[in-house]
Amino acid sequence: MSDYAVEVHVLASGSKGNCTIVKKGKSAIIHDAGISCRRIINGLKALHIDIHHVEGIFISHEHSDHIAGLEQFLKKYDVPVYTKHDTWREIQDKMMVPKHQLIPITKGSLQLGSLTVESFDVSHDAADPIGINVFGGREKVTILTDTGIVTDNILARLDDTTLFVLEANYDPHLLRYGPYQPFLKQRVASDLGHLSNEMAAQTLLMMRRPEFMQVILAHRSENNNNTVCVTQTIGNMLVDGGVKIGPEMKLQHGQPNEIISMIGKR
Ligand SMILES: [Zn+2]
Ligand SMILES: [Zn+2]
Repeated sequence: MSDYAVEVHVLASGSKGNCTIVKKGKSAIIHDAGISCRRIINGLKALHIDIHHVEGIFISHEHSDHIAGLEQFLKKYDVPVYTKHDTWREIQDKMMVPKHQLIPITKGSLQLGSLTVESFDVSHDAADPIGINVFGGREKVTILTDTGIVTDNILARLDDTTLFVLEANYDPHLLRYGPYQPFLKQRVASDLGHLSNEMAAQTLLMMRRPEFMQVILAHRSENNNNTVCVTQTIGNMLVDGGVKIGPEMKLQHGQPNEIISMIGKR
């Protein structure tokens, strides 16, 4: 199995729904199920992933843009769900999900086929939200969205990430003058909200980086951000910080309705 590349496919990203697939050889995991079951299945088909090779669904937290398709998916497929206890409790309040399918995440690592998964706490207004690291061969995948700040603990979990799905949710200026109610603006910008473009760039500058890494900038707000702002802010900050975009880092944008992929080395 060791000569299969690790692949990360962001099926959907943004406030309308999030779902990512991490794959190595025949092993695949789904991270978040915030789009319809039909779209998840179509995504798997497009990527030629057999549903029976999906080892588990990881749920970061219970907000609807991360679980909207979960109920329907679990009705069709007996795939285990990995999440924190408190998150599962919240999910059960929102939808009919079979209890036996939960595997609570505790400390330590989980071996799922040829992938090893670890979780870490993030800072978001949900019951017990997590980010994940996925290890496979020489690659380290990190999925970090829906966090208001990057704590030292989170930063330590990013070390040497080669394939990174990182939130770049809002531009502070667009948020400030945008259409949201004041309380919502405050929520987004708070320590329990989301990462701005600046914070995403700072994260990339502060973390211990490998010689080459790929990044998908994810969970972009439709109202308070756009790809031009993301590219300019993050691009400028990275260049100022001495990062050679291209040779050292490949950047892509996650999209609401388009699969964006990163393929690791073999
Ligand atoms: Zn959220
Ligand atoms: Zn979200």
